[in-house]
Amino acid sequence: MGRAGSAVAARERRETAPPGYERLDGEVPVLYSPRLAEKAGELSGYLAQGCRTLGQILSVEPPWIVAYLVADEDWKEAPRDNARPYPPGLPYFTRSVEPPALVLPGDLSPVFRPCTVATLPLTVWHELAHAFLLGREVVRTPAWLREFVPQAASAAVARRTGLPLEDHLSRMEPGFTVRGFRGPAGAGDQMSFQNLLLLLGAAALEEFGEGFLRSIVHALWEEDEIVDGERAEELLGDALGQGGREWLMSRPEF
Ligand SMILES: [Zn+2]
Repeated sequence: MGRAGSAVAARERRETAPPGYERLDGEVPVLYSPRLAEKAGELSGYLAQGCRTLGQILSVEPPWIVAYLVADEDWKEAPRDNARPYPPGLPYFTRSVEPPALVLPGDLSPVFRPCTVATLPLTVWHELAHAFLLGREVVRTPAWLREFVPQAASAAVARRTGLPLEDHLSRMEPGFTVRGFRGPAGAGDQMSFQNLLLLLGAAALEEFGEGFLRSIVHALWEEDEIVDGERAEELLGDALGQGGREWLMSRPEF
């Protein structure tokens, strides 16, 4: 018997994996379609690496979450925020279930490019970084800053875990700048936007080291009003440290 509060919490905790899904325990438990057992093991490894590394980089406890590895045929049953199913092959983070969940497809959509050995782990760490950031309330920010943080964080995990990014980064062709990007956009432009942010994040890590990630995440948690474009530049410039804003303005991606 628990207190009334914990009884309510227990009732609200619902892991809503499709029927027949199996569970792989780990730093982030993975609920997976039995036919994707091998993929579940691979993802469990990336999730464990990401959790440990992001916890260290950001100086926070990892969030209480699970991952669903969902087969294409079950995609419509995956937990999500909206009534309509999302396009297949696109991973996302949802707080519509308790604990909140990373929903990962068996195969990434072909819109994810470049397609290298780094694509899947970077994508997993990107979603995981969203989960870390949303462990506390975050005000609205411009899209470039909201997506820059997980892209730079995933590049930081790659650096720490020895996943080489040079090949992945060299295959990108920037066509615009992150501040010039206007959503909603097609999948191709969305991907180019994310790739620009990854390039910018990797360059920032090279120039300033990974300390700015902790600074920007904690600064965002302390903001209590909507962050506009100018404030976003100021926050990131300050987080980067001395010369940060000038450096940002000098970057072709920005
Ligand atoms: Zn994202």
